[in-house]
Amino acid sequence: MTAKLKGQANQTLSRQAQLYQRAQQVMPGGCSRNTILREPHPIYAKSASGCYIQDIDGNRYIDFANNMAALIHGHAHPVITEAVSAQLRKGSAFTFATEVEIEFAEHLCSRSYSLENLRFVNSGTEAVMSAIKAARAYTGKSKIAKVEGAYHGLYDYAEVSQTANPSNWGGSDNPHSIAVAHGTPRGVLSDVIVIPFNDPARAIQILDRHASDIAGVLVDPLPHRVGLIPASEPFIQALRDWTTKNASLLMFDEVITFRTEYGGAQTRYGVKPDLTAMGKMIGGGFPVGAIAGNKSVMQVMNPLNDAVLFPHSGTFSANPITMTAGLTAMRLFDRHAVAQLNALTATLKEQLNQAIAISGVPACVTGEGSMFRVHLKPQVPNNYRDTYTTGEENARRTALLDHFFANGIALINTCSGTLSTAHGQKEIDRFSEVLLSGLRKLAQ
Ligand code: PMP
Repeated sequence: MTAKLKGQANQTLSRQAQLYQRAQQVMPGGCSRNTILREPHPIYAKSASGCYIQDIDGNRYIDFANNMAALIHGHAHPVITEAVSAQLRKGSAFTFATEVEIEFAEHLCSRSYSLENLRFVNSGTEAVMSAIKAARAYTGKSKIAKVEGAYHGLYDYAEVSQTANPSNWGGSDNPHSIAVAHGTPRGVLSDVIVIPFNDPARAIQILDRHASDIAGVLVDPLPHRVGLIPASEPFIQALRDWTTKNASLLMFDEVITFRTEYGGAQTRYGVKPDLTAMGKMIGGGFPVGAIAGNKSVMQVMNPLNDAVLFPHSGTFSANPITMTAGLTAMRLFDRHAVAQLNALTATLKEQLNQAIAISGVPACVTGEGSMFRVHLKPQVPNNYRDTYTTGEENARRTALLDHFFANGIALINTCSGTLSTAHGQKEIDRFSEVLLSGLRKLAQ
């Protein structure tokens, strides 16, 4: 990226390109999160309202990225903005507790039968890490199992095999545990057991080989990087049965998927996870995470017990700004709002399938609830290995993404999107048109 920009004289660069040059002097890659990178430079936001966002060079986009699925009511929702502004004037962080933390915990726990007790943290990464540590503390075991390719944040154990590729992923009967960060301790890799998605027979065979050592099985019911395909009922049931039988915990990562149903994606299945990690949407636009679940499991974090099995703290955990924004946003996201948003997304997916059919380009759409992903593949993938794209496929997807951005639509880099309650028929019609013109361009 730098090379591309270097060739141009400074005065010919857009303001965004100039900013990116500055950013690279002080931040590796010129940013603090890789997800915002685009060629030839990231887009620098000026302001946003509802589902529209403007950059500092005057371009306007319909925002289907929603800060990586974290915004459920779009940008600067007036009720949330008002509530947060009022709290800001009263202080933003204390070494005291606040009532709003209790109210928000009560509210979230009331949304799903599995959420009996809860603690707040500051990110999805922290929520998943806390769930894993709680599972180890509760069971006294050290291994965890996770789905190949699934993203669960940056914790060493949670990220294993997130970026596995055909050269290192091994056979599907025995997927290898592949490190993401260089220098990941070998012990981490031997303590993470990788299972294939939606393949209960193979998954159980693999788990059985480590039956007495697994503290918990971590699963995202709609894993984005695995293809945004819902976990099948038999897969989830098999994991529930296996964990119960083997004194291990079932952990749901609902950092994104909590938005898919009023009580999270878990309420679609006839099972109760022992622990749930949450984040993104529940912060109402502010950094957040939460770990929740079975009361006796959550007791491992109780500092009033004689033995505190998992001591747990965080300077900004449950800060009143996040609590206020989150509680306000979640109250607005009531059963009616969830149903309406999911119905709008279903309409969008139908329209996208029509656009694909008209274009004649081999492509398909996956997703559930208020999330969708466009794949430049003729058939809906079944797992991470099917979803995995090669150099040529990546180039086509980038061309499609560039077409979306050039036509005023912001998306997540995998050609995935999420809706917020700020979107309406007008915006999804525009999205469908731009997909059709983009596919036609690809076909040429
Ligand atoms: N789990 C899932 C399923 C996620 O999608 C993400 C973030 N993309 C995380 C965990 C980590 O959340 P955060 O970025 O807030 O640390």
